[in-house]
Amino acid sequence: MADPGDNFVQRQDTAVYETTEPVLYAVQDGIASVTMNRPAFNNAQNSQMTYALDAAFRRAVDDDAVKVIVLRGAGKHFSAGHDIGTPGRDINKPFERQALWWDHTNKPGGEQYFVREQEVYLGMCRRWHDLPKPTIAMVQGACIAGGLMLAWVCDLIVASDDAYFQDPVVRMGIPGVEYFAHAHELNPRIAKEFLFLGERMPAERAYQMGMVNRVVPRADLEASTYEWAARIAQQPRMGLALTKTVINRVEELQGLRTTMDVAFGYHHFAHTHSQLLGAGTLGGQDAKSMVAENKRDHER
Ligand code: ZN
Repeated sequence: MADPGDNFVQRQDTAVYETTEPVLYAVQDGIASVTMNRPAFNNAQNSQMTYALDAAFRRAVDDDAVKVIVLRGAGKHFSAGHDIGTPGRDINKPFERQALWWDHTNKPGGEQYFVREQEVYLGMCRRWHDLPKPTIAMVQGACIAGGLMLAWVCDLIVASDDAYFQDPVVRMGIPGVEYFAHAHELNPRIAKEFLFLGERMPAERAYQMGMVNRVVPRADLEASTYEWAARIAQQPRMGLALTKTVINRVEELQGLRTTMDVAFGYHHFAHTHSQLLGAGTLGGQDAKSMVAENKRDHER
């Protein structure tokens, strides 16, 4: 069952963090490496990680020596998605916010989730998508739901041949993750298949659909990603920033921003509907049940 505390005004934050470094940051030869660092939880994203990612991206933007940013995940998987069940799940904890929405933690009903997700999911992802330096997602293993959001906000995606992409949240009664780029990253019919079935899309098919730039053997993933990063790092900073800005504006003209605003409303109707039915915000699902059903689907 979902956490009963999800239903109304928040109780105390009870998160217990397993690390003080949920994101690692390093710079070499003009390339910033931003590494999600919760491998024990397949890089599940809690707010601690989200705000650390934001700080790392800001650091990379502020450093004139950085030309390009690689986003990666420590361990076997890129990211299993948003944290819906580790001891470090911290949805009740206030952080220093980056947008001008008010604090969500003491708000009743649907307001709490709506405000939180405006900030930590939709707001952050839009902010990162628009950061003025090129970003490359280096994806291995699982890239699920909230993980998909992080890969999608990057300008380029290099995946290993064992990577897969999946948004299974329709099972929670929710029409896809908060940063709804599905029908822009994939053509609408494939996006429907991807969401209706909630199955894993292998890297190779994602490549065929144009969602991924390159697929390489797992052993070559790092070298291939950094080879591209090194080449991009040779380009002039403003040329890269202007090019990225123009293409991002094209995506907006194609309706990306409006699609997301519409989807976000439906997404929150779904969270609130589920609460009204007494099933918590996630349609009665939690991390354990999602993993179990995922496993069952893939053994069929
Ligand atoms: Zn949500």
